[in-house]
Amino acid sequence: MDKNYYKKKLEEELELLEKELKTVGTINPDNKADWETVGDPETNENDDHSDPNDNADDQEEFGERQAILRDLEIRFNNVKEALQRIDDDTFGKCDICEKEIEEKRLEANPAATTCIEHTK
Ligand SMILES: [Zn+2]
Repeated sequence: MDKNYYKKKLEEELELLEKELKTVGTINPDNKADWETVGDPETNENDDHSDPNDNADDQEEFGERQAILRDLEIRFNNVKEALQRIDDDTFGKCDICEKEIEEKRLEANPAATTCIEHTK
């Protein structure tokens, strides 16, 4: 297995995910591993809340961004963990049976942690 090949793929994906994350969130200054959704209407001090319809729209948009951010964050962390496994030399082994993960599975998802048989 060519680990450098997967490392490159993972690094490219991480970069892409970080760009996408920045469109919906910001890194929590107190915890660099935590992303916060931008434009929370509850904490937006520039919003005077005078129009209840506006406020409902804001809340809905914020909810959508929050859902996108959550999905991106999960993927971002999975990719980061996969890169960590490359450094630890445990990359490409199934979490359940400890056999090598099939190359075609890693090709489709280099952050996979289980073989095809043990896919959740
Ligand atoms: Zn397995």
